[in-house]
Amino acid sequence: MSEHVRVRFAPSPTGHLHIGGARTAIYNWAFARRHGGTFILRIEDTDPERSTEENTQAILRAMEWLGLDYNEGPVVGGEYGPYFQTQRFASYADALERLKTAGASYPCFCTSADLEIKREAGRIQGGFAGYDRTCRSIDADTAAARIAAGEPHVWRLKVPEQRGDIVFPDAVRGEVSFPVDAVDDLVLVRTDGTATYNFAVTVDDVTMAITHVIRGDDHLSNTPKQILIYEALGEPVPVFAHLSMILGADGKRLSKRHGATSVESYRDQGFLPEAVMNYLALLGWSLDGETTVFSRETLAENFSLDRVSRNPAIFDDEKLEWLNGVYVREMSAQTLVDQMVPYLQAAGFLSPEEVSTRRDWLLRLAPLISERVKRLDEVVPMVGFLFADTVVIEESALAKVLGKEGAGVALDACRETLAGLSAFDAATIEAALREVPERVGVKPKVVFQAVRVAVSGTTVSPPLFEVLELLGREQTLARIDVARKYAVE
Ligand code: GLU
Repeated sequence: MSEHVRVRFAPSPTGHLHIGGARTAIYNWAFARRHGGTFILRIEDTDPERSTEENTQAILRAMEWLGLDYNEGPVVGGEYGPYFQTQRFASYADALERLKTAGASYPCFCTSADLEIKREAGRIQGGFAGYDRTCRSIDADTAAARIAAGEPHVWRLKVPEQRGDIVFPDAVRGEVSFPVDAVDDLVLVRTDGTATYNFAVTVDDVTMAITHVIRGDDHLSNTPKQILIYEALGEPVPVFAHLSMILGADGKRLSKRHGATSVESYRDQGFLPEAVMNYLALLGWSLDGETTVFSRETLAENFSLDRVSRNPAIFDDEKLEWLNGVYVREMSAQTLVDQMVPYLQAAGFLSPEEVSTRRDWLLRLAPLISERVKRLDEVVPMVGFLFADTVVIEESALAKVLGKEGAGVALDACRETLAGLSAFDAATIEAALREVPERVGVKPKVVFQAVRVAVSGTTVSPPLFEVLELLGREQTLARIDVARKYAVE
């Protein structure tokens, strides 16, 4: 690509960044990186009722969490700013002036009541129910006089009479065509002087020198209108790439009905940004048709629009979890500790000082967990017993394990063995405890399960000998003493 690529992600802060928006952002980011281009974040905050500062902040946080760094946008600024639509009204006014001068826009004095009657008439005739262009034929002097007299009016685009169908090559969907008579003389500027959505977006894309518009296909029907605006302004039309929808497992468009879909809710559930990024990249794009695990660098080096699928992608929670598990397993112990500490703190397991004073201990815990969790929030229930003062033994474990014949004898023997060890590391513990079953004539399974239940309260826990080492001798013996009271001889 010889021209300098400039792409933008343009969320409306009417909600948090959701999965679909994040994928659009990722593709724009990757496309810019692949071509050494510029990635721009533009906040489309013109809907005053639904746009909030809180949502803007949430979008910025989610972008940062995903590692989607932008070259221009809020906070970082840039030459083409400001990057909030509400701060760009002057450029919309300038663009309207250009269109007026070019004779490509005309004032329309029809009231909403007039328009409703016209639309209804159009519908009854079975024709196009758009604007019938009544005001297009008002001569310039009359229009000027009516404006001077203060008559309320909007400004419409004068769609050229001779214009054929609107056809454009979409980088994902191939050639897309809209019949020109399906396009109204659309309103560019409302009675109150504000720009309409399509006008603002197009003017922004022109003034920000956007070369490629990569966005969700829910905007496809806006594209012919926007193309007409580019043409009226005499500006080059960018390349469009419309991304197919993301569907839930039920085949319906992904929405709140499918549970939490905001990026931050995935963060809160213990998903890693690398995994979310990797998974979303795969929702409609493939590296080579087989590789599922790849880094952001690989994505940035290889992304291309011609490998983006035209078919809707299905969001599969299980696959995302699986992928997250892959990333958790590949993490170094240091990183995993950093990642799990906030969860342990939120659960009240670690005080701020303990985050550093117990770091070595946490580093020994990390490998026991990494193979066993897919999401980081699973760490809390899995290791809670290590932080508890006393263990609550599950009802079922009482019956199934401590109620087994030989459990009491086994606990006594293990206690004695552990109390006498010269060192309390997993290897020494293992070697010593492995001799117990034969010595006391109780099945190994009964022996080890009894100890496991005694220290953890449940029948499933991370590897036993390592757990005992982490608990330390004193805690281990104390817990065995408590469990002993419930064990049968
Ligand atoms: N603000 C629009 C949205 O959030 C995106 C507009 C565009 O990408 O052209 O859906």
